[in-house]
Amino acid sequence: MTKVLVPTVCPYCGAGCGFYVAAEREKAIGIEYMLDHPVSQGALCAKGNAALEILYHPDRLTSPLKRRGEGWARISWQEALDLVAKGLGQARKKHGPRSLAFLSSSKCSNEDNYLMQKLARLLGSPHIDNCARLCHAPSVVGLNKTLGAAGMTNPIPDIASSRCIFIIGSNLAENHPVISRWVHRAKDRGAMVIVADPRATPTSWMADVFLQLEPGTDVALLNGMAHVIINEGLINREYIAQKTKGFEALSRAVKDFTPQRTAEITGIAPEDIVRAARAYATSPASAILYSMGITQHSTGTDNVQSISNLALICGQMGRPGTGVMPLRGQNNVQGACDMGALAEFYPGYKKADDPNTIRYFREAWNAPDLPPGPGLTATEMIEAAGAGEIKAMYIMGEDPANSDPCSEHARRSLESLDFLVVQDIFMTATAQLADVVLPGAVWAEKEGSFTNTERRVQWSHKAIEPPGEARSDRGIICDVARSLGLQFDYPDAASVLAEINRTVPQYAGILRERLEGSSLVWPCPTVDHPGTPILHRSGFNLAEGRASLIPVPFSPAAEAASRNHPFILTTGRVAVHHNAGSMTRRSPSLISREPDLFVEMNREDAAALDVEDGDEVRVATARGETAAYARLTDRLKKGVVFMPFHFPGTNILTTDAIDPEARIPEFKVCACNVFRRD
Ligand code: SF4
Repeated sequence: MTKVLVPTVCPYCGAGCGFYVAAEREKAIGIEYMLDHPVSQGALCAKGNAALEILYHPDRLTSPLKRRGEGWARISWQEALDLVAKGLGQARKKHGPRSLAFLSSSKCSNEDNYLMQKLARLLGSPHIDNCARLCHAPSVVGLNKTLGAAGMTNPIPDIASSRCIFIIGSNLAENHPVISRWVHRAKDRGAMVIVADPRATPTSWMADVFLQLEPGTDVALLNGMAHVIINEGLINREYIAQKTKGFEALSRAVKDFTPQRTAEITGIAPEDIVRAARAYATSPASAILYSMGITQHSTGTDNVQSISNLALICGQMGRPGTGVMPLRGQNNVQGACDMGALAEFYPGYKKADDPNTIRYFREAWNAPDLPPGPGLTATEMIEAAGAGEIKAMYIMGEDPANSDPCSEHARRSLESLDFLVVQDIFMTATAQLADVVLPGAVWAEKEGSFTNTERRVQWSHKAIEPPGEARSDRGIICDVARSLGLQFDYPDAASVLAEINRTVPQYAGILRERLEGSSLVWPCPTVDHPGTPILHRSGFNLAEGRASLIPVPFSPAAEAASRNHPFILTTGRVAVHHNAGSMTRRSPSLISREPDLFVEMNREDAAALDVEDGDEVRVATARGETAAYARLTDRLKKGVVFMPFHFPGTNILTTDAIDPEARIPEFKVCACNVFRRD
């Protein structure tokens, strides 16, 4: 039997690295590197290299299940579909379509997400969202408002041609390791690297200037840099005049952010703020890279808008090596948003509250009626479930019982639903609460397109069959839709992409056959269009073709340290785990490297509490408490502690304070206390 090499896309982060799954006798036997991949060029990080470890894990769900008492009973697909149709159908009939909510998955393909949002809306519910709400919703809102497009402006390999790279709120050396290779390449060519983060990380180790700011003070830092740039005449006057509007108001808004005042708010030395501002403004090509350290705040949208402001006043946009680059967490979070699995947008970022959008999709889908939005966001659905307004939920590939803030509250809300169906590959904490569990397929067991953080659309091929009776997510959604009386005839992922080509203008030219052995970067409006790696070369998709400079006042985080909670807890990732950890904590080579929940704290803080490295401690907030091992470090300033969010305990602690526009929770700042466990 010969070995076959099947091209696939890494199931973890938004870098979208490609690799071949080597399969023999219908079994995955190894990984082979894809040397000509435009982003990874043969490289993979620890997670990518370990991707196959979950395929044959004994915890995989292999048949539909229904709750029976405290346990589970294996059931046939027919019985499962009947139960789902009954559960969703009864809630809809009794309480109306708005009593249903749907959570789609940025781990799933574009086709899966397109079908999930279509199912929700054809059933009459506007309540559809995905986990972008927990990671990059402020990028969607903030970049749309300032630049007119919610995507990374420049391709990843373009980073190598930057002369100054400003990384803020991103530990990309651990979280997007293959992207950090491109930063290293630029540095090898002489680029200056500036890193702003409350925590020293492997990313800050490559910085020429490290700005260790207090958590939640990003707007002050960005306004302070804009102040220096305007004050010293380092702005790009011609670019501002021709391509933007709102400069005068912005200029007034940053007037008081002198280096001294900015230093007082952020804790960064004034001379470092000035040095960073001058370097960013004067380099011939500067890029800003950011991630969830910017977005997961109650001021997440403000943070993103401030980043756009900085790039625009310096004219660092629309050229190689420049731009604004949100680094997406999950491998298809960009695509899930593009496909309209969002409360406020139908596919292609068509506003859900625009009657033209509703008219367009009524015709495109031959649907007599569709719900206008915005619907409830991911976290609002959970709140509404707790309040008895949402009666039934369909959750695909998400684990809000672990990944939502204030997770014990989320768990109780999910328990109060009349009906919950969860479609996943493992029995997650959320699946444990379900009435019916449907076994899905992982990336290597199905085909479909995935859109990485640079808007690159790639086709991932099917290498092996799903285990037992597990099925592709597309197949399951179609079966559920048909069991509810809808006509969902999509025999394969290509047939869904063909509909996406017709309804999502950015994907109009991204035909299935053009993705064979290649990839395309949206917008790609026609079948002979080469794609658009660099956005905003000639203008912006906003009124008068101009970008918007939006003044952003500084607002502190929702919670501050207090007598009872004297530390600020900030959360993030480590190199060997991903998101809620449902896959990486089951991957032997990864969990062996980082097996337990830890809390990083400054050595002096620990000494004051008589805590030693490796001691078990309790971390407590107003929401609850959890146990963790103390890891003593000089990486954090006094008064700040850090915990990774891949383990169930962390989000027991986090606050549900949200950004008023993007509705993202503030995972990055909350007040806590740490106690020795005696
Ligand atoms: Fe996968 Fe991201 Fe690692 Fe690439 S960098 S191998 S996409 S986890």
